[in-house]
Amino acid sequence: MTSSDDTMKQLRYLAGALKAPRITEAAGRLAEQARDANWTHEDYLAAVLEREVSARNASGARLRIRAAGFPAVKTLEDFDFDAQPAIRQQIAALASGAFLTEARNIVLLGPPGTGKTHIVTGLAVKACQAGHRVLFATATDWVTRLTDAHRHGLLPRELARLRRYGLIIVDEVGYLPFEQDAANLFFQLVSSRYEHASLILTSNLPFSGWGGVFGDQAVAAAMIDRIVHHADVLTLKGASYRLRGRGIDSLPSIRTTAEPDS
Ligand code: ADP
Ligand code: MG
Repeated sequence: MTSSDDTMKQLRYLAGALKAPRITEAAGRLAEQARDANWTHEDYLAAVLEREVSARNASGARLRIRAAGFPAVKTLEDFDFDAQPAIRQQIAALASGAFLTEARNIVLLGPPGTGKTHIVTGLAVKACQAGHRVLFATATDWVTRLTDAHRHGLLPRELARLRRYGLIIVDEVGYLPFEQDAANLFFQLVSSRYEHASLILTSNLPFSGWGGVFGDQAVAAAMIDRIVHHADVLTLKGASYRLRGRGIDSLPSIRTTAEPDS
């Protein structure tokens, strides 16, 4: 027994009107399965709709991942935790994404090449898959964006727009010091998200070095206070993953800046 051609034609029309084109295909395919396995009408309807919803979620996640602006798409599954065993448990807990609904922050500290950007991207890809909007940029890029908005008198509007993103990533705090104005703009970004939406920051410097980056101990202290009030702080250790197997243990110039607190 098969559905009549008329019924299929009508289904195609209705699915098109609902902008749910996968329903036509799923309806035909699942109808045979449903007959063979004696599904109830309700089971059949649920199975057809489920196909459409999961396809939509997957394409939504793809769009969100593309829009996030990652330097490269990396996943937690590709991360070798044997190189960073101390953070395995913490990352596994954070991967659930509960930190996003609680508007908690994450700070990843550690020397260059230890996987900070990789882990942040992996967590953010999970966030995209869970339906959150994400924006990734370096600290320097953020300062450029905020300075632009400020110059055009649009800073409040830009901060309000950014609050609609469940997750904002600030990569590489500390590679370049900020001007005083830039540090103040950055402080406003942190304040505007405080207890509203999550931030993830990475830095090669311990918090004690942030005063130098923001050119002002008081601004740095007020900012760190807001960031870590509800945050997980993870410290990555060891030699650069990039330099593994090259007979170079670590870069001497980097050791001195990156490991003063260890
Ligand atoms: P950081 O941001 O700390 O400087 P990255 O995350 O950019 O370091 O890592 C440098 C490179 O090494 C990237 O290509 C990253 O994917 C890779 N990498 C670093 N650590 C690991 C790891 N533990 N497992 C797999 N790849 C890693
Ligand atoms: Mg990095």
